[in-house]
Amino acid sequence: MKYERKPEWLKVRLTTNENFHEIKRMMRSKTLHTVCEEARCPNIYECWGMNRTATFMILGDICTRACRFCAVKTGLPTELDWQEPERVAETVEKMGLKHAVVTSVARDDLKDGGAAIFAATIRAIRKRNPLTSVEVLIPDFQGNWDALKTVMDERPDILNHNVETVRRLSDRVRAKAKYDRSLELLRRAKEMQPDIPTKSSIMVGVGETWDEILETMDDLRANRVDILTIGQYLQPTKKHLSIERYYTPEEFALLKEEGLKRGFSHVESGPLVRSSYHAHEQVKSAQQA
Ligand code: SF4
Ligand code: SF4
Repeated sequence: MKYERKPEWLKVRLTTNENFHEIKRMMRSKTLHTVCEEARCPNIYECWGMNRTATFMILGDICTRACRFCAVKTGLPTELDWQEPERVAETVEKMGLKHAVVTSVARDDLKDGGAAIFAATIRAIRKRNPLTSVEVLIPDFQGNWDALKTVMDERPDILNHNVETVRRLSDRVRAKAKYDRSLELLRRAKEMQPDIPTKSSIMVGVGETWDEILETMDDLRANRVDILTIGQYLQPTKKHLSIERYYTPEEFALLKEEGLKRGFSHVESGPLVRSSYHAHEQVKSAQQA
């Protein structure tokens, strides 16, 4: 890593308030997980405390994969919990969310990768919260396109799947995923439901070059992805992939320009941007596009 110390622009204020504690209580009382906590997201104080928003992580809190950048626990997952969709829907209602983001661990142990639970969660949220838009950030279902169809048939407001990094580093950063399979998923999702915006995310700072980031943008646009988020990789623990480089806020602004030039309808690019950061704003711009 070129810089030992975390730059100023990555420092966040660690303050909790009543919103923060209330969301924590809600999640605990409903035995729900959030990627905010499990992935140690640096924005948790802002999202929970100031914006009263969170990203649900369904299908348990144990992932069958072990991507080298990710803090989520890995191992043998627990059983399927068919009550989980209803508890998510109740919590969305209680939080008064206008836009709900739902992601999951990768469940490679299940034939459909958990697609049926995703579909049930979308239905349950809609039933209780007809005015709430729903974004799903899905795993690749190991290329099971019937599973993808199960999700797309529920017509989420945004279909999100992260490519995470550039082609050359994909095997190193997320060994069980495949760069081209992720692109194919995004392309197929668009073919199944052409009017549903698709979205993907790249984290930078793991050793990619500037040109490789631009190539990744081109690959995403070639597969008709509408929304892009770009953020700085932060190492969750010393055991995880090391940080190769910190990008400056000015570089993130340049990347946003490059993305918009390529035709993405919305680009969220900044040091602390994560896939679900300011997601409620992206649904608005996607609907207007
Ligand atoms: Fe949670 Fe997403 Fe906000 Fe992070 S950016 S705290 S994952 S809602
Ligand atoms: Fe983390 Fe997702 Fe990789 Fe599982 S598949 S380790 S949750 S990034």
